[in-house]
Amino acid sequence: MSLLPLFLEVDDVSVLVVGGGAAADRTVRALVSSGATVTVLSPVLAQELAARVDRREITHRAETFHEGLDPEDYRLVIAAAGASRTAAVSAWARRHRLWVNAVDDPPNCSALWPAVVDRGELKVAIGTGGGAPVLARQLRARIEQLLPDRIGELVALARRFRDRVAARLSNFDARRSFWERALESWEFAGAEDRWQALLDERAGSAPPSMGEVILVGGGPGAADLLTLRALQVLQTAEVIVHDRLVSPDVLGRARRDARFIAVGKAPGGPCVSQDAINEILIEEARAGHLVCRLKGGDPSVFGRGGEELEALREAGIRASIVPGITAALACAASLKTSLTHREMAHALVLASAHGHDERAMAELASLAGERRTLAIYMGVRQLSVLRATLLARGLPPDLPVALVQEAGRAGERRFHATLETVVNVAREVALRSPALVLVGEVFRAREESGAASDTPARSGTEPAAVATG
Ligand code: SAH
Repeated sequence: MSLLPLFLEVDDVSVLVVGGGAAADRTVRALVSSGATVTVLSPVLAQELAARVDRREITHRAETFHEGLDPEDYRLVIAAAGASRTAAVSAWARRHRLWVNAVDDPPNCSALWPAVVDRGELKVAIGTGGGAPVLARQLRARIEQLLPDRIGELVALARRFRDRVAARLSNFDARRSFWERALESWEFAGAEDRWQALLDERAGSAPPSMGEVILVGGGPGAADLLTLRALQVLQTAEVIVHDRLVSPDVLGRARRDARFIAVGKAPGGPCVSQDAINEILIEEARAGHLVCRLKGGDPSVFGRGGEELEALREAGIRASIVPGITAALACAASLKTSLTHREMAHALVLASAHGHDERAMAELASLAGERRTLAIYMGVRQLSVLRATLLARGLPPDLPVALVQEAGRAGERRFHATLETVVNVAREVALRSPALVLVGEVFRAREESGAASDTPARSGTEPAAVATG
């Protein structure tokens, strides 16, 4: 079936609804709220419809459907009186060249009711030509999630703003470019001030405005572990400055015409210095762009987000943070293990082993202890020293250690060991960065359930028993 999607103005348009039950009421609700004039034809009315009659929202004719109705009175017909009557109502309507929608009966329709995302003036209508209504509803749920709550108000604001823009920008291209820029952010709060400043700038009465930088947590790698806010920023930012840890899956969610700048720091490999990264962020924002600084995990956990925020603050550039799922939390989910536990762990320590000398390593070890879970970032290369320091501190050799490489990504690998065996296990399985070293009693339960290694099936190259070290 090929269909024409169309938004109709139905103010004062007369609609005949045949049927007085719940299905009729659902359509009546939508019709009334769009301003249509509704007549319901049915010998009896469900409670909701009767209440609408009392409120004078609709007119009621207490009759069953018959061919002698005057078609001139109506523009659209809804057949909602049950399957037995649908064909007759539909045939009558078509004969008189009226649009007809039959509830749950696409072949008897000349107009199909879409699944609707309704945010005031912003409406998204989804149709599958009656082929897969459930798919339409699933899509609607996804779109609901994608749209910020107040996006309808943004549309209303844009409508009010149009005249102001037209008065100050006479050229069509200038107006379009204004709106493209203005709507890069779908955030309603503060929109009017932002737009006014932009308009002043475009109309030449204010100096060019600064862009802004948003530090966004890209999570462990799977795109469906991004926050909705992160997704919105990705889809609006013009420039995306990203780390090596950010997965292609996540980058794929960015706005299609965004400019990507990779500033990855591979361990031991070539890297863009932090100063250079700060400089890029400042320059791009000064050029007026909305910049998404995309980091793996959470930007405020070992992501050098602090230095970037400081540099931006000094440069007078607006900056904010969108949190993400940090590696430790992704590992907990992969291991199906809670990092805290009423009996086993009252504290969770997130620590970094990066570039630590012996003294720093001892400090790190002092964070470990009874009833604590220690999540060590950047610990793969320091594993031997780490193990020695923790043992020297008196932690038991049989203390469970979990190793998770690429948590939450396609290449994920998980291993269980103990403090005693961890170095050998890591060597045997050729553990690579990015991986997290997790130490604590909470990881024991898995071991005892018989899973010495619960490496995902897809990485078939692992040794069979890895925790024997
Ligand atoms: N901001 C990031 C951490 C950056 S530091 C976050 O919040 O997760 C880089 C270290 O994080 C890596 O060396 C590794 O220890 C850890 N890491 C990051 N992503 C990981 C992943 N998917 N699986 C396991 N460890 C990860």
